[in-house]
Amino acid sequence: MTDPGVLPVVETFHSLQGEGHHSGRSAFFIRLAGCNVGCPWCDTKHSWPEDRHPEHTITALAELAGQACGAGAAFTVITGGEPLQHPLGPLTAALRTHTQRPVHLETSGVDPLSGQIDWVTLSPKRHRPPRPELLAACHELKVVVFEPDDLPFAEAMAAGVSAGRELLLQPGWDSERGQQLAVEHVRRHPQWRLSLQTHKWLGVR
Ligand code: SF4
Repeated sequence: MTDPGVLPVVETFHSLQGEGHHSGRSAFFIRLAGCNVGCPWCDTKHSWPEDRHPEHTITALAELAGQACGAGAAFTVITGGEPLQHPLGPLTAALRTHTQRPVHLETSGVDPLSGQIDWVTLSPKRHRPPRPELLAACHELKVVVFEPDDLPFAEAMAAGVSAGRELLLQPGWDSERGQQLAVEHVRRHPQWRLSLQTHKWLGVR
């Protein structure tokens, strides 16, 4: 992406945050295109190729966010894809100007942090561990659980986050094994909470 004033966008929508600490709250989502992390179970593989999605100007995105916040969105979520593949400074500055609401970010943490972010959700991947500075900066750690090896990975990640941050285990969608493992781990380790993809259960975006 050479023009700093545009970003490739998969979709924008106003819905409820379905996962994590802010689950159930009204939010405006900006899903940026581009990801090279390559999770086999990714549910947004269509977001991977940047060049298959239209470029939007940052001003237009911020105006959409402003309209959504005027209609009830409590914050904007920048997601992907892997949004930190793009420098987020211009977008987060424009969002602040147009919404006067917090800006949230969902990331795997493999790229450098950029932009002024109020809430960082870090969802680290075993095959591409995050940068230590992303672990230290995150406000909530959300580890997706499919198999037993995901649990020691979750504990290793938790050791790197700042004190008092939210620790979340989220069963992989449609994974009975993941549900059993996550529920049992949370039952035995009270520092963790279960995170469910409530938007998928409800059948909303
Ligand atoms: S980091 Fe996210 S968008 Fe990228 S492959 Fe993994 S789950 Fe999919």
